[in-house]
Amino acid sequence: MENPLLSDHELPPFSELRNEHIEPALRQVIKENENTLDQLLSDEEVDSNWNNLIQILDNLEDRITKIWSTISHLFGVNNSSELRTIYDRCQPLVTEYFTNLSQNKLLYKRIYNLQLRSDELGLSESQRKVIEDYLLDFTLAGVDLESSQQRRFIELEKRLNQLSVNFSNNVLDATRAWSKHVTSKHELSGVPDLAMATAAAAASQRKMDGYVLTLDFPSYNAVITYADDAELRREIYTAFVTRASDQNNGNGDWNNEDIIYETLQLRQEKAEILGYQSYADLSLVKKMADSPDRVLSFLNELITKSRPVALQEYERLEEFAASLGKQKLDAWDIPYYSEKLLKELYDISSEELRVYFPITKVKQGMFEIVEKLYGIKIVQNSNYDTWHSTVEAYDIYRSGELIARFFLDLYIRDGKRGGAWMGECRSRRELNSGDIQLPAAYLVCNFNAGTGKLPSLLAHREVTTLFHEFGHGLHHMLTLESNLRVSGINSVAWDAVELPSQLMENWCWDKKSIELISSHYETGEALPDAMLEKMLAARNFQAGMKMMRQLEFALFDFELHVSLGKLIPGYVRDTLLNTRQKTGVYSTPEFSRFENSFSHIFAGGYAAGYYSYYWAEVLSADVFSRFTKAGIFDPVMGREFLKKILSRGGSVKALTLFKDFMGREPEINALLLQKGIPLG
Ligand code: ZN
Repeated sequence: MENPLLSDHELPPFSELRNEHIEPALRQVIKENENTLDQLLSDEEVDSNWNNLIQILDNLEDRITKIWSTISHLFGVNNSSELRTIYDRCQPLVTEYFTNLSQNKLLYKRIYNLQLRSDELGLSESQRKVIEDYLLDFTLAGVDLESSQQRRFIELEKRLNQLSVNFSNNVLDATRAWSKHVTSKHELSGVPDLAMATAAAAASQRKMDGYVLTLDFPSYNAVITYADDAELRREIYTAFVTRASDQNNGNGDWNNEDIIYETLQLRQEKAEILGYQSYADLSLVKKMADSPDRVLSFLNELITKSRPVALQEYERLEEFAASLGKQKLDAWDIPYYSEKLLKELYDISSEELRVYFPITKVKQGMFEIVEKLYGIKIVQNSNYDTWHSTVEAYDIYRSGELIARFFLDLYIRDGKRGGAWMGECRSRRELNSGDIQLPAAYLVCNFNAGTGKLPSLLAHREVTTLFHEFGHGLHHMLTLESNLRVSGINSVAWDAVELPSQLMENWCWDKKSIELISSHYETGEALPDAMLEKMLAARNFQAGMKMMRQLEFALFDFELHVSLGKLIPGYVRDTLLNTRQKTGVYSTPEFSRFENSFSHIFAGGYAAGYYSYYWAEVLSADVFSRFTKAGIFDPVMGREFLKKILSRGGSVKALTLFKDFMGREPEINALLLQKGIPLG
């Protein structure tokens, strides 16, 4: 029988796929791709042009990506232990395939020579960007280093990978090692029902009675925010902020301190081998921010503007706590009293709001908004093959012509990974035949499905999640680029890729659009004004304090990676303390070692990149300010954004696109206004 993964389909043939198809298909495609590449490179005389080089590489990449993205998608949404085993076996094959490609010197030379002929061949701007990105990837993979340096480079990469795995294992082990058994319900007074149920389940899993608290975030967060017992909050706080550190009693084995130093040292060495001054410089090569100074001034400006507001908010919190008889706040009191103050000020619970956000209304409203803005039409299509009966499929039309497709997989179920994401199913590109392959996206969320008579009702933050992911989806689907490597979200600078998604969230916070996406699920009544006002006002509760916390992480991360050759003992601690002098709003206990579990930068991809969170927020608030001025459904503004940014993918540098739309560089004022922070 034919392997459905190997035949060409517009969309994956989900109902025909069997686990046993996966590995053979993948191995065969890898082999065929490698043969094609060898053949391509064996003829040394040939003059490369777009069609006989890049178009072929795109075909190879598209072929393997189509298979692998289908498997990764199923791994995320329909997991089983069998699929997991297959996935774990196959992933190294894919990694190895792409690593070999990025280390291929012959291919690098071919593409380099093609770049030299760009003018002669009359290559377009977008084609030149594809070539430029290819060459940059090769350079960053160390391809053009001389051999001794290249050997060292490969060693460094290996070691850095290992360190990152060790870091994250230590955090995991230290997190798992701590638990607290609580026998009486009374000791957990204040903790919400859902968290109590989770703690009871954790206890029965361990064959204990009562409750077990752990350092997993939902458990930690529930205690630190709601538990009335201050001593309990102190205990869990202390355990949480000392994970994987010298302060973690008796568990010195998991101390991440040496790993942090070695990581920083090797990152600096790697940057220097590649010809950059610091790891921060290296990190920015593929980002929109163009220099370390730019990032630092960006962060410092935000800090200067928001710190006074944060200090005022903190003062208000202290007064409030004092009014409840609490005179001095410790770090473990802050979330607790903040939550109480929030309730006092706005008296609003996300549960009350749910009844106004039934999923059908939210979806319809969201589609209507983007249809107005971008001149498209979204139509459900139940003919497509899907992976689960609750999955919906849609077509997108422009001027009567089909331009894209997407799947919505909205509800929690067993075997589905938590969280929400947009995944690429097909990328827009021009095929050999000259036809356009239409883009397709997976939009995945984890909402409650609703039961019996109750439809699925969303909390407002879930509504923003859906808008966020749909924003990524539009970026992928409304692209007009036809070169694989720069169409949709491909090759978009890392600190700019959240612009379309965060932009979409703004429509969840405007009265006029909220009207479109909300109505009582039974009565159809509009969200009452009083509730809406409270909801909008609560949006900026402690906005300054929240910003300072994130900015502290961002500045600490960047300062760590921008400084040169100063890796003396105490460097990390000193950098953190210096950062806190600028960002601190209240004092942090001396025993805190939060840096030892800062996985984003030591075990994730965010090193010298944590600032991106705010960078993208600044971009999206800035862009949205034009929509606010023009009217948030203004089709002219929508078309302009579509034309200048959304449809352009990674075909032009993100800063150029941004300046083309805004007529200037990004400015932080719109974000500050949005958060209610005075421009000063
Ligand atoms: Zn996102």
